[in-house]
Amino acid sequence: MKSTLAAGLTVAESAIHGKGCFATVRFRRRKKIAEYTGERITNAEAARRAHRRVLRISGLDQRHSIDGSRGGNGTHYINHSCRPNCYLQTISGRLIVLALRDIRPGEEITLDYVSSMHSDRKRCTCKASDCRGTINKTTAGA
Ligand SMILES: [Zn+2]
Repeated sequence: MKSTLAAGLTVAESAIHGKGCFATVRFRRRKKIAEYTGERITNAEAARRAHRRVLRISGLDQRHSIDGSRGGNGTHYINHSCRPNCYLQTISGRLIVLALRDIRPGEEITLDYVSSMHSDRKRCTCKASDCRGTINKTTAGA
């Protein structure tokens, strides 16, 4: 499946992990960056795909997930940061990436992956000063 990049976004090498998603234009705080597109799958299927080395799946609702590795628009390259500049919101059954703050061209787009299916022990390399060390919040001892 051919992927087309969303307007205002590009994919490039990331200092955080592998490839990342970067802004090519200015995005204002609370404005839509792009829809998180991809194949719409059930959460059961998402769990079956979760063993992949690099996970490009994001939860949509209680029953469905989006697998951005199939038909994604670049948003599936968004890396995790413990101090993200974006957040995800489900609007009318679509998963939308919104800006947490003003974002300048060239900045890497980041999300807090708390609710993803990454295991608690997956190490975070986001380099934020308050990095919690793991991509998901650890449930142990919380
Ligand atoms: Zn971190």
